[in-house]
Amino acid sequence: MGNKYINQLNEQYLDVMKTIHDNSLEVGVPIIKDEGLDLLLAIINLKKPLTILEVGTAVGFSAIMMALNSNACIDTIERNKIMYQKALENVNLLNLNERITVYYGDAVTLELNNLKKEYDLIFIDAAKAQNQVFFEKYSPLLKDDGVIITDNILFHGYVERYYNKDLMEDVSKDLRALARKIDRFNQWLKNNKEYESHFLDIGDGMAISTKKMR
Ligand code: SAH
Ligand code: MG
Repeated sequence: MGNKYINQLNEQYLDVMKTIHDNSLEVGVPIIKDEGLDLLLAIINLKKPLTILEVGTAVGFSAIMMALNSNACIDTIERNKIMYQKALENVNLLNLNERITVYYGDAVTLELNNLKKEYDLIFIDAAKAQNQVFFEKYSPLLKDDGVIITDNILFHGYVERYYNKDLMEDVSKDLRALARKIDRFNQWLKNNKEYESHFLDIGDGMAISTKKMR
């Protein structure tokens, strides 16, 4: 739900984006939370990226919102065929084909030479258990002054509960395992020597990472 007062202050979506947003939530596509989106767009307005890489397109909601709020060319990767096709449709609908390229494939194995050599911003929002794999694979494509944003680092509160050794008896084994993996990634990122990260309780939890310059 989020904070209604804050929501009305923030810029509202185009009608067509509101439709994509609401339809996605209705059928359970895990698109970025409104508060997370506002943070992402604020960073985009500050950073003015010209190249963006997104891992995890789903139906293209976040990619399109980033495109509408920047002049960036966006490469985005999706492994689910139905999602991929829906994303292409939505990108077409908004006439953003020239600026958004959707790659159909697994981001774990995708050949890097399909992509650009350097990105101003990388948004990691795919399979949460593989955050570290994505970070290690794609961070070499980040410009020195670039930023990496990782979504869902709190995963509906399960990561904090796991960390606090909550018994989580109401939670399935799979979800517990996922919470453990996300916590491992967060701790790894915290101790990463090359990147400085800020971990925020916004949306479903987001980490903002930049290369250490000091
Ligand atoms: N960024 C989107 C939401 C992405 S949801 C938005 O906010 O609008 C996560 C998506 O990542 C799902 O569609 C899932 O199919 C995709 N995904 C998960 N693991 C992946 C992988 N290894 N490679 C490519 N896509 C992946
Ligand atoms: Mg997400």
